[in-house]
Amino acid sequence: MKVSRPKLKWWEKLYFPTIAEGLLTTFRHIFNKRFTVQYPEKRWTPPFHFRGAPTLLTGLDGKEKCTSCKLCMFICPPNAIRIVAGETEDPKEKYPAEFYIDFGLCIFCGYCEEVCPCEAIYLKHEYEMADFDRTNLIFDKETLLEMGRKEPYLTGKEKPFKKGGG
Ligand code: SF4
Ligand code: SF4
Repeated sequence: MKVSRPKLKWWEKLYFPTIAEGLLTTFRHIFNKRFTVQYPEKRWTPPFHFRGAPTLLTGLDGKEKCTSCKLCMFICPPNAIRIVAGETEDPKEKYPAEFYIDFGLCIFCGYCEEVCPCEAIYLKHEYEMADFDRTNLIFDKETLLEMGRKEPYLTGKEKPFKKGGG
């Protein structure tokens, strides 16, 4: 397929208007008062819909909601999730005996949250995941549940759709 290029006008061929436009944009930003956040001295507050690290949630009974169906594990594009199913006397019959997410692989796509039939996994506000050792980025079930408990909206301490977040 042949793509026809638009014909440039004679002044466009000089490139000066484009250069002037670029410089103007640069000068506008010089006097702009919005600076980069001085991390880590200052922390950034993500907006409500920010998709950070996936976390595991507990139900009202305090137990994990996950039924170990493994849909999230199969959908995860970089294979960051590993689940070992266990049996339970509860009506849900199965639970995750082991549940790992490798944050060295996770791309925060949100597929696991989308596919979960139990609303057991949510991408929430945690974004400080860096570490010098990749093995420290493999989080187990208890850590993921603890992260889910810390989520302010999910524990009811903060109202959703907070204005001006981020
Ligand atoms: S957010 Fe995406 S990459 Fe990360 S665990 Fe979920 S499905 Fe996998
Ligand atoms: S999709 Fe939901 S219920 Fe199924 S294994 Fe993943 S977190 Fe658990």
